[in-house]
Amino acid sequence: MPIVSFMGRAERRRQLKFDEMAVDKGLNLTARDPRQLASLIRVLHEQVCDSVVAGSVSPLMTFLYENHSKTLKGISHIRLACQRGCSHCCHGWVSATAPEVFHVVNGLVPARLPTLREKIWTANTHTEDKSPEAREGIVWPCPLLEDHACSVYETRPVMCRSAVSMDAQICARSCLENSGENIPTPPVYFALSDGYTVALACALKKAGLQHRAFEYNGALKAAIGATDAEAQWLSGHTVFHSVIQDDDLLDDPWVRNLYAQVFA
Ligand code: SF4
Repeated sequence: MPIVSFMGRAERRRQLKFDEMAVDKGLNLTARDPRQLASLIRVLHEQVCDSVVAGSVSPLMTFLYENHSKTLKGISHIRLACQRGCSHCCHGWVSATAPEVFHVVNGLVPARLPTLREKIWTANTHTEDKSPEAREGIVWPCPLLEDHACSVYETRPVMCRSAVSMDAQICARSCLENSGENIPTPPVYFALSDGYTVALACALKKAGLQHRAFEYNGALKAAIGATDAEAQWLSGHTVFHSVIQDDDLLDDPWVRNLYAQVFA
C-alpha cells in the first residue's frame, strides 16, 4: 500500500477528529467563523458517506438535526413571537433537499398515509411549477400542518427550523394577506439558516449527490409516489425530475470559494 495513501488517510482522520470537536456544541453564530463552518461541512460529508453505506438518510439527518438543536440552544435567550398554534409561515414557499424530504417521509405513520397523500396531492395541484415569486400570491397551508401545528415537527426541514419572527401580526399580514412586509427576524437566525443550508449543500455535492433544494409539496409527492427514490438518490441518481428547485447555492462565489477551500 503506498505510504502517501496511508498518510492521507491518517491526516484525514486527524482532521475529522478536530472538526468533530469544533462543532461538538453546534455552531457559534455570533462568531460567524468560516473555519467552524468548514468543519461542519467536512463532518456532514462524513455523515453523508455513512448514509450511503447504510442505504438510509438517517445517519446524516439525525446528526444534522441534533447539531442544529445544539446551535439553537445557544441563541434560545432571544425573544421570539413564535409558539405552538401559530402557523402563518407554513402557508408559503418551502424548499428542502432530497435527504430532508426522505427523512420526513420515512417518519410518517403508515396509518396516516392515505389522508396525507390526499392533502399532499391537493396542495401540489395549487403549487406545482410555481416559482417562489409566483407563490407569493398563493396562500395554501403546508399539507403536513394539522390544527395549526406541524405534524412532523421532529423531522421538519432546515428551512422550517430557521423560520422565526419577533412579531406574529406582521407574519399574519405578510404570509396570509401578502402585505409585502418583511418578517422581523433576528439576524442571527439568517446565519443559522445560511450555515446549515450551505454546509449541507457542500457536503452533498462533494459526495456526488443532488444538492439543490426542491419545492416541498412536489418533492413530498415524488418521494411518496416512488418507493425506491431514497435508494436511487443515495446511488447518485437524479430524483424528483419535474419538481422545481431553488437556485444552486454553489453558484454563489463565496460558497464556491468555501467549498474549494474545504475540499482542497
Ligand atoms: S413541515 Fe411543518 S413546519 Fe414546515 S411548513 Fe410544513 S407544517 Fe410548517
